Amino acid sequence: MGTKNAHKVAELQRILAQEIPGVIVHPSTEESPVEDGDTFSANALIKARSAYLASGRPAIADDSGLEVDALEGRPGIFSARYAESGLDADNTAKVLREMEGVEQRSAAFVCAAALVHDGGEVVVERRWSGTLADQPAGDGGFGYDPIFVPEGHSVSAAELSAEEKDSLSHRGLAFRALAPSIRALD
Ligand code: IMP
Repeated sequence: MGTKNAHKVAELQRILAQEIPGVIVHPSTEESPVEDGDTFSANALIKARSAYLASGRPAIADDSGLEVDALEGRPGIFSARYAESGLDADNTAKVLREMEGVEQRSAAFVCAAALVHDGGEVVVERRWSGTLADQPAGDGGFGYDPIFVPEGHSVSAAELSAEEKDSLSHRGLAFRALAPSIRALD
C-alpha cells in the first residue's frame, strides 16, 4: 500500500483481514510521492497510483486527517505536519493551543481510501465525528487520537481498544467500503 506509516499499516492489516481473509498489507518501499492534491481523495489517489506504478500490482493507499470546525477545517490535509516537527505530540499541542478557550469543539477524522489496478481507479471517503478534549488522554492509537472524543463516547480514541477503534473509525469505514472492489480483483 502507498504508505510507510507503521501505525496505519497495522490498522489496515487488521481492518482488511476481517473483510478479505489471508490478505497481507505491505508498506510501500519506494520513495513517497509529492502529495500536492487539495483533497484527501486526490492525495490518496496520488499515493495509490505511485505504489501501483512502482509495483506493477494492484495498490491501495489512504490519506487521512483531522478537520476541526472552529479552525475552518484545519489541520485537514496538512494533519501529518501541522507542527513544524511533524511529531504527534507537537501536532496535538498545536491544535489544543489554537482551541484554547474555544467552546465549539466539534471535529471529524476523515479518510479517503483508494485502489488503483489495471482496470481502473476507485476512491471512497468516510468521516468519524466527535469533539476535541481539553487535554490528551490515553496511549493507544496514534496521531490526534488522545484529543479526539468520538461521538457517543466519553473517552478519547486513544482509550478505545484497537478493535473498537477499527469498528468506528474513518479508516475502518472507508476500507470496509472499498473492500468489495479489492475482493473483486481475485
Ligand atoms: P497522511 O499520512 O498524509 O494521511 O497523514 C495523516 C495524519 O492525520 C496522521 O499523521 C495523523 O496525524 C492524522 N490522522 C489520520 N488518521 C488518524 C487516526 O486514526 N488517529 C489519529 N490521527 C490520525
